[in-house]
Amino acid sequence: MVDFSPLKAVLSGRVIFRSENAKDYQREVDETWNAAIRTRKPSAFVRVATVEDVVNTVKFCVKNELDMCVCAAKNSDFAMADDAVVINLSDMNSVTVDVEKKVVVVGAGAKLSDIDKETVRHSLATPLGSYSQLGVAGYTLLGGTGFLSRSFGCTADNCLEFELVTSTGDVIRASENEDPELFWGMKGCGFNFGVVTSLKYQLYDIPEFVIGGDLYYPMSKAASAFKIIRDFVREKEDNRLAVYMMLHFKRSGPQALCRFLFIGSPKEGGALLMELTDLTKPLVNKVKPLPLDEFQKSGDWMVQRGITYYAPMGNFVEELTDDGIDIIFDGVNQAPDSRIITGSNIYITSLGGKIKEIPAESSPYPFRQAEYWIGIVAGTPDSNFYEDVKTWVDSMDNRLSKYGIFPYGPEAEEEHERIRALKVKYDPENVFHHNFNIDPKKGIQKD
Ligand SMILES: Cc1cc2nc3c(=O)[nH]c(=O)nc-3n(C[C@H](O)[C@H](O)[C@H](O)COP(=O)(O)OP(=O)(O)OC[C@H]3O[C@@H](n4cnc5c(N)ncnc54)[C@H](O)[C@@H]3O)c2cc1C
Repeated sequence: MVDFSPLKAVLSGRVIFRSENAKDYQREVDETWNAAIRTRKPSAFVRVATVEDVVNTVKFCVKNELDMCVCAAKNSDFAMADDAVVINLSDMNSVTVDVEKKVVVVGAGAKLSDIDKETVRHSLATPLGSYSQLGVAGYTLLGGTGFLSRSFGCTADNCLEFELVTSTGDVIRASENEDPELFWGMKGCGFNFGVVTSLKYQLYDIPEFVIGGDLYYPMSKAASAFKIIRDFVREKEDNRLAVYMMLHFKRSGPQALCRFLFIGSPKEGGALLMELTDLTKPLVNKVKPLPLDEFQKSGDWMVQRGITYYAPMGNFVEELTDDGIDIIFDGVNQAPDSRIITGSNIYITSLGGKIKEIPAESSPYPFRQAEYWIGIVAGTPDSNFYEDVKTWVDSMDNRLSKYGIFPYGPEAEEEHERIRALKVKYDPENVFHHNFNIDPKKGIQKD
């Protein structure tokens, strides 16, 4: 057992061991979104409070050859691993808005809701994801898309600067002017190069009230409503409009809804909404004017924390075809009993717009050409049914994959070599490997 006292002596934050504080250790474990990973037993959690803490922890782990995980909001399956030291950044959650310059600087431990709360009160926003409890770093470093992405692009496209601690304990910055090559790599593969400590984002003007909320459809009419909604979004060609078509499984069965957002003037939004409801005749219309941060939180109930989830990446489809929608509804018919998959969701989220307009070479994000992202977040209150749930999800994912963008084909080799060169430069020993990992010796891992 390694002696942690030299680290404890210099830390502003704290180290949590099971043997010393079982309650706090268990709280760390139980914060994960996915209950399936709560059986893992990290050797310690280090709750870092400052950049210095991160530097000291990384150096200590490297020196003592301790395996490391990096996390904040613990929504991914990489958040913790057996025997690893888990660096938890969630206390580094400051949010500083510069209204004049229209930028926001955030600590890497901030959640998306922390940022929206501070920016929206100035009628400003950066595009963030659709679950307000995501950690800003983990989400951005993958690219990150949400309801505002059709207007402003991926979240990573709007990140102006990353500050990170490398495997040697150096604190560096990546931006268009400082290490532009690393800056490029951070916007899609960033978790491979170090521990990000802060991020700066571009902000945009948004109205005080957006038009947002949910339209509910009877299951018998949902497939045709979804096709009409898809056509409507295509025909309008308005980046300010975004829709997420969802199938949410309650204990009593699936329910179909369209999450609607328009960030232009409320008058224009109201007119668009009326046109869409005339065409699709929802059973219940819960769309209304509301502040953007309220809308951004309004879907959180669908992805309750702490049940057992199987949630692979799904498919980014170049075109949402009638056949694709039919496959999804076929999948609904073949779903396990709703009592087994209570809390699950099938999502069809609109992309395109500005994401597509930004040049592909600006970042390694591979899905710019996608019109929609389709996937299943399958939850089960009873982990004994995990394999049944997995079989169902994989079967639908496989059927949809013929429309999916495949990011690891031979045409992407050149880009992967570029990312690998960055990995070799910044983390040649692959110290940061609990992530979608690029092995410096082998190249990107495809699963
Ligand atoms: C319910 C749910 C909804 C989602 N919705 C969306 C969505 O709308 N749009 C979208 O694009 N994605 C979405 N995702 C995917 C999500 O963005 C990723 O799972 C992301 O990695 C979560 O980051 P986190 O900080 O919340 O989780 P964590 O588990 O804390 O972090 C995830 C991983 O990111 C890396 N990481 C985190 N912080 C740092 C850091 N400071 N420095 C270096 N690496 C770090 C680590 O590898 C870590 O293991 C969703 C996921 C879930 C579970």
